[in-house]
Amino acid sequence: MAEGRVVPEVDRAAASRRALQRRRARAALKRDLTTRVTAPQDVLRRAVEDAESDAATLRITDFLMALPAIGAGKRDRILEELHISPVKRLGGLGVRQLAALSEWLDRRFPPHTARPGRSRLLVLAGPTAVGKGTVAAQIREQYPEIHLSVSATTRAPRPGEVDGVHYFFVDDAEFDRMIADGRLLEHATVHNKYRYGTPRGPVDDALAAGRTVLLEIDLQGARQVRAAEPSASLVFLLPPSWDELVNRLVGRGTEDAEERARRLRTARTELAAQNEFDYLVVNADVATAAREVVELSTGSSR
Ligand code: 5GP
Repeated sequence: MAEGRVVPEVDRAAASRRALQRRRARAALKRDLTTRVTAPQDVLRRAVEDAESDAATLRITDFLMALPAIGAGKRDRILEELHISPVKRLGGLGVRQLAALSEWLDRRFPPHTARPGRSRLLVLAGPTAVGKGTVAAQIREQYPEIHLSVSATTRAPRPGEVDGVHYFFVDDAEFDRMIADGRLLEHATVHNKYRYGTPRGPVDDALAAGRTVLLEIDLQGARQVRAAEPSASLVFLLPPSWDELVNRLVGRGTEDAEERARRLRTARTELAAQNEFDYLVVNADVATAAREVVELSTGSSR
């Protein structure tokens, strides 16, 4: 009989804690992949660069199944095509398997490429609770040279919000008149509730004066701006992770459970639209995200 090694109780407890952390981290990674918060190529890169990373310990089967629109049948066909055994983990792939997988990923999920050329009309959009408002507020404070558009809305002001500064608070009749008179560059009903729109005049004036204009609007509005002004630069703000997005949504605590669930569903749909955008900016840190957005218009960095 082989002599069993006696593992002290404390070591075993620490090891199982570590294993649990790993499992949680892998589950979070899979959520990031499913919700498109993280590109599959990024996860693979992490696995290759760091053999100790959570990404490296992710099974190839779990990795593939976490990708949008891949079920068990497709997963098996892909593994066969790429000559990868289903027991492999991302960190244990051979050079040839890595190359084949990368190539397949790039075909299936074309990497995001920035559009050449810059515009002084910047549109900042992104999923609910990603922090667009906070990034926009930071830009208003730190970069006064940028004209931040003030939207019109039919919702009531929240405490601390000032008419004409944060929004133009209007009633439905006034909003209808603005549309009828062609005074809105774009408008949309957000979260199936209130209407929001970008007054055209101040945007045109600021652009004519040579200033950069930033619109912080929802996805429907961003699409309308793209149609009306094809040269506009569309920036999509991404959360650092899906779990962080959920935290921000819950942490804000201003919505009830039903409303939160609805906003999360909206956020998932909105994340799926990121490919329509010219630039992706991750909002891990507000000041950094704000600087990156501003630099997109000034051209000082990519
Ligand atoms: P909140 O009511 O929390 O200030 O804003 C709700 C949502 O409305 C945010 O996603 C914000 O981006 C969007 N929004 C604000 N102003 C406009 C606008 O002028 N047009 C559109 N389409 N969406 C807007």
